[in-house]
Amino acid sequence: APQHSLPMSPGLFPPALPAKYSRHMAVLGSGAAGLVTARELRREGHSVVVYEQGNQVGGTWVYDPNVESDPLSSDPFRKKVHGSLYQSLRTNLPRESMGYRDYPFVRKRGRDSRRFPGHREVLLYLKDFAGDFGLQELVRFETEVYHVGPAEDGKWVVKSRKIGEGGGKKASERDEFYDGVVICSGHYSEPRLSVIPGAESWPGKQLHSHNYRFPGPFKDKVVVLIGSSASAVDISRDIAAVAKEVHVSSRSAPDGPPTKQPGYNNLWLHSMIERANEDGTVVFKAGTCVFVDIIMHCTGYNYHFPFLKVNDIVTVDDNRVGPLYKHMFPPALAPYLCFVGLSWKVIPFPMFELQSKWLAAVLSGRVSLPSCEEMMEDVKASYTDLEASGWPKRYTHNMSNCQFQYNDWLATQCHYPPVEEWRKQMYAANGKNRVARPETYRDEWEDEEWIQEAEADFLQYMK
Ligand code: FAD
Repeated sequence: APQHSLPMSPGLFPPALPAKYSRHMAVLGSGAAGLVTARELRREGHSVVVYEQGNQVGGTWVYDPNVESDPLSSDPFRKKVHGSLYQSLRTNLPRESMGYRDYPFVRKRGRDSRRFPGHREVLLYLKDFAGDFGLQELVRFETEVYHVGPAEDGKWVVKSRKIGEGGGKKASERDEFYDGVVICSGHYSEPRLSVIPGAESWPGKQLHSHNYRFPGPFKDKVVVLIGSSASAVDISRDIAAVAKEVHVSSRSAPDGPPTKQPGYNNLWLHSMIERANEDGTVVFKAGTCVFVDIIMHCTGYNYHFPFLKVNDIVTVDDNRVGPLYKHMFPPALAPYLCFVGLSWKVIPFPMFELQSKWLAAVLSGRVSLPSCEEMMEDVKASYTDLEASGWPKRYTHNMSNCQFQYNDWLATQCHYPPVEEWRKQMYAANGKNRVARPETYRDEWEDEEWIQEAEADFLQYMK
């Protein structure tokens, strides 16, 4: 397999056309979205300052052994933790498809060379990316943004404070002014909980998967996990190795009696929970009743932008961030306020790359946005389509059935080639393989032909 010989070739795809305007931009966050946004903005000739509350780049991929002071994460005054990774986490996408398009996520000597590597390998990849494109120097680390809003003369103000600096809060606060702000703050930090009738008087312990790190504390316990996401699947297996019993309650499970999962003698799949009782039992819709020690909510996350002060021009309503033209621009504030990275059920990094390329070109005036009215019409039409498809509002940014169409649209806007056929095919093949082999899909696959195509494609980006 190809290995990087860095730096990457900068001669990728058509060179950017001369930009007309250079903007001074703030980027909030240095995860996968913030990093590629900073790169694209700078490539296009804009000046960039990246704000990062953590002490290193990588966002979600920085494993944090700390958990929040409230294991359910429902107390608004809890001590917060950004990361949601657990120790055993391996990627759920193959590395070939996961990387940025022009900076392939290839194996490197002496590192985790698995096709679905552990989380540390992804962090190292992002650090390499930041290093190779000189992005670290743009980042203000340990700097938390607490206010983003319009200022006078069409500028934007970003108010930030240095974390852990002596001299008191006020001494370290700063107000800085920009032409615009890009929000890349991630959306896997503010847990969403399921409502369990009777939970208030149920005597067991509850937590959200955001606060799960390793299986030790679950030894010999009876655990219920709620959810059917990748995290619920992974964590249930992680815990089953030490727990007495693991019961997964999933909306997508049939309503009948629980089914024991193949290969396990202590892991069952159940229908939804009906209620929790004072005597410590949990009752499932199918009528099964189990004494339970711990309930873990693997029920996803809510969008949360506590720093955004734009007088309700952008709101979060039932997990819809809106109105946003193409999931990025609030029409009334475009292009000077922009979101990169809101979509879910997608291949994130290459999508962030295309979103930020489009943004950079719009800001420089190489590419135009439609009028505010036209953008609003487009947003409304997208809401109508969502409703017609029977999806709930909270799925507004779920792009599982249109990510490649969306990516191709973005690519067309900024004169970039469409998504590679191998990436689409690999994504589909991995999805099928995950269903067919939930336990082993990370180590057994049948899409060799697409791997070969991907690796041939990568050669153009490596010296
Ligand atoms: P983040 O990585 O969350 O970065 C946001 C950054 O903003 C953080 O560094 C944060 O500290 C900073 N920030 C936030 N608020 C502020 C503030 N007020 N002031 C200053 N800084 C701030 N994707 C894949 O491609 N493959 C996978 O296998 C995969 N597995 C995943 C497993 C889990 C458990 C989770 C939670 C996610 C997974 N993802 C996976 C999705 C992953 O989130 C994306 O790949 C990507 O890392 C998101 O990047 P981001 O930059 O949007 O957000």
